[in-house]
Amino acid sequence: MKIGILGAMEEEIHLLGRQMTGSSSEIRGKREYLHGQLFGHDIYLVFSRWGKVAASATATTLIERYGVDYLIFTGVAGGVDPQLNIGDIVIADNLIQHDMDVSFLPQMKEFEIPLLGRADFPVDSREVEKAVMAAENWLRQDLIKQVTSEALKEFAITAPRVVCGTIASGDQFISSNDKVQQLRKKIPNLCCVEMEGAAVAQVAYEYGIPCLVLRTVSDKADDDAIIDFPRFITSVAAFFTCGSVLRLLKEW
Ligand code: SAH
Repeated sequence: MKIGILGAMEEEIHLLGRQMTGSSSEIRGKREYLHGQLFGHDIYLVFSRWGKVAASATATTLIERYGVDYLIFTGVAGGVDPQLNIGDIVIADNLIQHDMDVSFLPQMKEFEIPLLGRADFPVDSREVEKAVMAAENWLRQDLIKQVTSEALKEFAITAPRVVCGTIASGDQFISSNDKVQQLRKKIPNLCCVEMEGAAVAQVAYEYGIPCLVLRTVSDKADDDAIIDFPRFITSVAAFFTCGSVLRLLKEW
């Protein structure tokens, strides 16, 4: 199996890349695709950039040019479920494109993807289960070895959890309580919002390959969503998702 790992944080790609053995790289369409091994798996690793177009172009290249047959997407997200806190890890069990709306056409529901006949992309429950276990093991065993207590304190992270649920993706950074309420009303079991996951899930679905999306909650998508992003990513989030992905590959 060839696994494609796409990250929306350069720092996390950098951390994963440092662990890879026998790596070589190629530049295509303004992305650097790193090829190598992680825990005996054949891996293609790439910084996807942000947004649905960037992520789907990258996912398609991974499949078409490098022949990957499994996609993993990682990054940060805005937690919209009030139970979620900054630093929690979310594993998608379903993905929706929240800015897709052609419901003015007869028989089309809101969020339905034109010509595909579906509005969401569920993830295989065995794959979700594997990712949840890996992330939980990372939090339990590796968190305090990899992230400083000062960084955890700075972002008020006390007891981070792993949660699975629906992730909604769209081409906008959401930082509005009203928008969060609107989306929660329309999308059942909505956990968090981000800008890439459901686009990658659509590409994976169209090519008939599995796809996993893991996210660290960086903000609550509310009126105070703009935190010190660069600092949160370098000192916290990159370790959370990179650590969970490494655990997943180790325990595969
Ligand atoms: N890493 C950048 C910030 C990028 S923000 C920096 O250092 O400044 C966009 C990224 O964060 C995307 O990958 C998106 O998926 C994710 N994201 C986090 N919180 C989000 C929110 N509230 N709404 C939408 N996307 C969010």
